Amino acid sequence: MAVFMEEKIEAIYRQVMAKNPGEGEFHQAVKEVLESLGPVLVKYPEFADKKIIERICEPERQIIFRVPWQDDKGEAHINRGFRVEFNSAIGPYKGGLRFHPSVHLGIIKFLGFEQLFKNALTGMPIGGGKGGSDFDPKGKSDNEVMRFCQSFMTELYRHLGEHTDVPAGDIGVGARELGFLFGQYKRITNRYESGVLTGKGIGWGGSLVRKEATGYGAVFFVREMLKVRKDSLEGKTCVVSGSGNVAIYTMEKLHQLGARVVACSDSNGVIVHDKGIDIGLVKRLKEVERRRIADYASHHKDARYVAGGNIWDVPCQVAMPSATQNEINGKDARALLKNGCIAVGEGANMPTTPEGVKLFLEAGVAFGPGKAVNAGGVATSALEMQQNASRDSWTHEFTERKLDEIMTRIHANTCETAEEFGATGNYVVGANVASFIKVAQAMVALGLI
Ligand code: GLU
Repeated sequence: MAVFMEEKIEAIYRQVMAKNPGEGEFHQAVKEVLESLGPVLVKYPEFADKKIIERICEPERQIIFRVPWQDDKGEAHINRGFRVEFNSAIGPYKGGLRFHPSVHLGIIKFLGFEQLFKNALTGMPIGGGKGGSDFDPKGKSDNEVMRFCQSFMTELYRHLGEHTDVPAGDIGVGARELGFLFGQYKRITNRYESGVLTGKGIGWGGSLVRKEATGYGAVFFVREMLKVRKDSLEGKTCVVSGSGNVAIYTMEKLHQLGARVVACSDSNGVIVHDKGIDIGLVKRLKEVERRRIADYASHHKDARYVAGGNIWDVPCQVAMPSATQNEINGKDARALLKNGCIAVGEGANMPTTPEGVKLFLEAGVAFGPGKAVNAGGVATSALEMQQNASRDSWTHEFTERKLDEIMTRIHANTCETAEEFGATGNYVVGANVASFIKVAQAMVALGLI
């Protein structure tokens, strides 16, 4: 990959760093996109004249608010809530909410920045945003989570709307949290506005396949990358980091397509199960019982739990990082390559460090970046919004077929764009350039706003 930043773009990047101090992940996400844009400015000089890059790096609106709530003992707690409305040139702000103690403004900004390009790649009319809180749902009772969500929404609701800003889930925000958030929005506004949140339960406006969509979509993308190389997932040994929503449905689809997932993980350790991960068990432990992955080993005598282990040391042909940002560093990438990895599909947002990405691209593995690979989740959110708008609900088969078509199209688009811009096989360039051009053209059309 030509890691080349034109002088003009380099100056913009320096300005972004100076204006947003202490936001390392945001700088990283911006740098990765800007590195791809040199040839775009040559082809579209109006983007430079109209300062599109400068404008795209500055969120349209950033909201930070206090979230006070009471635990079951009556003690008060104060968390911080965020919503960064990054860009609405092609549609209402769209993107998940993350509840995790690591959340700070820089994390939400990196996620929002990634999201705006990811959403553009889906081909659906959705802008980019992201939000969340440093609240940790782990170990909290359902009632505590409910009180937190109600307090969070009591502030956030004024910024939302089906045509304005439409949140969904992310790490720490699943069906339970979305239910409490939607309930409070409905109560405050006195509107049953289904399209204001996505990832809703099936009985109250949700879409079939939304739960599975990020994982299934990621596997469809990897299937397409392998197809270009006249290869398939059939019989491949895979490793999927994490054991949350993305990881579970990535593993499920990999198994359905004939691959074998031999390891998954959580932040405490790694499960290695050569026979193939028992996905039903992971679902029960994580989705129903909210337990740690360590408990898996007590159900399967031939599985191994490695406390504090590194999942990237487990040999595999296909790696699908599906936990969190920067979980594959240079050392991990080297271990994967040494063990014969031929494809990497990022189910999480920015899970590979710049050094790791460079190593994968230099080694010629099929490397699918998160903003393309994991776009199936938000794409199916847009399908959920379509169903809400028409008061309809589609079948599982129909919705999954649509998801598959969308992922196949994203793959083709990123592949062709990379080729057009002289970076054949480089999906990082393909995804950055295709999505940037789409958003930039809309911004030019809408004037200086
Ligand atoms: N949080 C997911 C993502 O990173 C889904 C966002 C959505 O559905 O709005 O894309």
